[in-house]
Amino acid sequence: MTEATPPATKSPAVAQVRLTRPHRVGREEEYIARVLASPMWHGDGEFTRRADAWLRELTGAPAVLTTPSCTHALELAAILLDLGPGDEVICPSFTFTSTATAIAIRGATPVFVDVRPDTLNLDVSLVEAAITERTRAVFVVHYGGIAADIDRLVALTEARGLHLVEDNAHGLGGYWNGRHLGTFGGLATQSFHDTKNLTSGEGGALLINDESLRGRAEVVREKGTDRSSFLRGEVDKYTWQDVGSSFLMSEVSAALLVAQSEGFEVMQARRHEVWDRYAEQLAPWAADVGATTMVVPEGNDHPAHVYYVLMPSADDQPGLMAHTGAREVTTVFHYQPLDSSPAGRRLGRTPHPCTVTRDVASRIVRLPLHPGLSEDDVERVVDAVTSYRPA
Ligand SMILES: *Cc1c(COP(=O)(O)O)cnc(C)c1O
Repeated sequence: MTEATPPATKSPAVAQVRLTRPHRVGREEEYIARVLASPMWHGDGEFTRRADAWLRELTGAPAVLTTPSCTHALELAAILLDLGPGDEVICPSFTFTSTATAIAIRGATPVFVDVRPDTLNLDVSLVEAAITERTRAVFVVHYGGIAADIDRLVALTEARGLHLVEDNAHGLGGYWNGRHLGTFGGLATQSFHDTKNLTSGEGGALLINDESLRGRAEVVREKGTDRSSFLRGEVDKYTWQDVGSSFLMSEVSAALLVAQSEGFEVMQARRHEVWDRYAEQLAPWAADVGATTMVVPEGNDHPAHVYYVLMPSADDQPGLMAHTGAREVTTVFHYQPLDSSPAGRRLGRTPHPCTVTRDVASRIVRLPLHPGLSEDDVERVVDAVTSYRPA
C-alpha cells in the first residue's frame, strides 16, 4: 500500500463540546478494585455506609439511604407515604417523567401545576388552588438547583396536613438561606446519574428528614424484611415485615460514588467558573437578541447544575441548537410538558392550563456544563451562542 494522504479539503477534527460527561477525580479504579477483591459486591457494605455518611454530612439530613436511582428513591417515597388509587399528588408539569411516574405507579393521580416564568419552579399560588380533599402530597423540584418557594410550600403543606417530597435531583450542593436543599420536606431524593453533579453511573438516594419514616424505609428497601436491623444485631433472624422491593445500591456503584465525592468540591468549583463565565459573557448578547438568562433569587447558593437561556421565540430553539451544532457544540431543549404528554393526559389531572410550562419548554436551550470543560471549550460555547441571531 502507498501512503494515504488526507483529502486537502477536510478540516482538522474538532472535538464535540458535549452537554455533560462524567469526570474522573482520582480513586475510582482503586475503590472499585477494593470491592472486587472483597467477598461482598452487593449492597450495604463499607462503601454504601461511607456514601450514606458523606451525604448526611453534606446535606444535614438525619438519615440517608442510597438507592439504584433517583427514580427508585421517588418510588420508595411514594410507598412510604402509602399513596394509592384515589389519592392526588401535586407536582410540576415542567419536570422529568420520574417525578410523575413514581406517583402514577402507585395508582395515585399526578396533578400537574404550572411553574413560575423566572425560576421555572412550582407556582405556589397555583399549588394552593389545586388542593382538593383527595390531595395527599406535593412533590416539588428545585429546577437547576435553584430553590422553589420552599418556605411557602412548607407552610402550606403543614397547614393543610400534606406531605412534602423534594425531588432534589438537580440540587446536590445547593442551599436556600444556608440550608441544604432536600432537607425541607419529610423526604427528598437525589440522583447520581451521569448527567448530575455527582455520579455513580446510575444511582440515587432518599433523604429521610421525617425520622418517623426511617424504620419503615429500611424495611421497604430490603424486600420488605428487617434485614437492616438484623445486620445491626438488633434481631436474631430477619423476616418478612411489610411490602417492599429491592432499592439497594450495589457496592460497586457505592465505591464509584465515594471516589467521586472526594472530588466534589473541585468539580463544583469548576462548574461555578463555567456557570459564571456564561452568565457574564452571554448577558450582552441576550439583551441584544431578546433572550433571557438564568435568574437566581437572593437567598440561593446554587450548585451550578445547569445553564440555560430562554430564546425570544419558539423558532429560535431549534435555530440555536442547529447553529451551535454546526460548530460542534451540543445544546439541547429540556423537559416537554408532562400535562399534555400522552401518559400525562391519561394518568394525570391538570386543573389549570400550564401555559408557562408550554412556553418555556418551547424556548429553553441548555448549554454544555460539566467539570471537564476546558477554557477553550467554554470559549467555543460562548462564540457559538453569541454568533447566533434570531431569524
Ligand atoms: C435526573 C432526574 C430524575 C431521575 O434521576 P435517575 O437517577 O436517573 O432516576 C428525576 N427527577 C429529576 C428532576 C431529574 O432531573
